[in-house]
Amino acid sequence: MSAAAPSDESLPAQELFAGVVGQEPAVTQLRAAARRPVHAYLFVGGRGEGRGEIVRGFAAALLCPSGGCGSCEVCRRALAGVHPDLVEFERTGASLSALAAREIVRLAARRPLEAHRQVLVVRDAHLVGASVPILLKTLEEPPAATFFVLLADFVPADLATVASRCVRVDIRGVPAAEVSTWLEGRGVDAERAAQLAEAAAGSVERARLLSEDPGFGARRALWRSVPGRLDGTGASVAVLAAELVASAELAVEPIREQHRQELEALAAAAEQTGARGVAGRREVEDRHKRAERRWRTDELRAGLGALAAAYRDRLLESARNGGRGSAGGDARMREFAGAVAAVEECAVELVRNPNETLMLEALLVRLSGLPGSSG
Ligand SMILES: [Zn+2]
Repeated sequence: MSAAAPSDESLPAQELFAGVVGQEPAVTQLRAAARRPVHAYLFVGGRGEGRGEIVRGFAAALLCPSGGCGSCEVCRRALAGVHPDLVEFERTGASLSALAAREIVRLAARRPLEAHRQVLVVRDAHLVGASVPILLKTLEEPPAATFFVLLADFVPADLATVASRCVRVDIRGVPAAEVSTWLEGRGVDAERAAQLAEAAAGSVERARLLSEDPGFGARRALWRSVPGRLDGTGASVAVLAAELVASAELAVEPIREQHRQELEALAAAAEQTGARGVAGRREVEDRHKRAERRWRTDELRAGLGALAAAYRDRLLESARNGGRGSAGGDARMREFAGAVAAVEECAVELVRNPNETLMLEALLVRLSGLPGSSG
């Protein structure tokens, strides 16, 4: 159906995916797919802005008349996320409502505006729930020029029929060692690269932003200072919990700035095409807010990881100092092991718990009885 059947020479896909790190399986799969695309892809996992680069690279390959040359106007606009035939559908409510699903069907039926195809990206496909039947017919008999890219954090049972109509592409969390190596390649020293990779939890985008964030070291140090600053009083608990929550809030600033820039780019693109404003601005802003909340949660989780590591260090130190064997030493090691477990529990609990301050205070009270800086 493509006017220009791309040869291998005209598909320097490496350029399209140049910004993508640690996703070789997905990139290899998509390079091959771009030559003979089917009509629907389901990207699973890879929550975080890193997934966006893979989507835009793939969209450029599908929209470019040469199959993804990486340098033409179409490629450049698709890679920047501002090509009119790269349509990103954003939900407004808590799920993909029937109304939203019908809007997706309507968009799918539309002719491409400029290119020979259109790529319709549907975010949060795992929230499709009861709207599945509305989408199924379009996915089974898609308009010839429409290519779906559905993005899902995971595949719930009610998405199974939709998933069966799509080619699945798994986006993995990038192993910490690969993130660390990538950071070192960008000039970050080995020790800091390892710390950043640990805090990035599989997200290269997060690692990149943290590496440029001058506050990262101080925030990590704050979390690691907790054991030494807990003096058994309620006052120290309250002060520390407030500091930790405030530092997580501060950590969101770089991603807010990134979002401001994204909106500016969209506004500039809209102005160029003579539009009166950014189409779907509210939806984009909603997505930004969700991403900022997630970022904050990731930051707290990374902080808890640093805190658990601080107790783990004390546990090792205690073992090295011949703690094992003596009654007091054994008890101390059990306490440190208990502290690590309590912090890790708290990190799991974080997703469900809307009140971070209360949750942190409860954890700190639990940790207060432990020997702190004495190691
Ligand atoms: Zn091109």
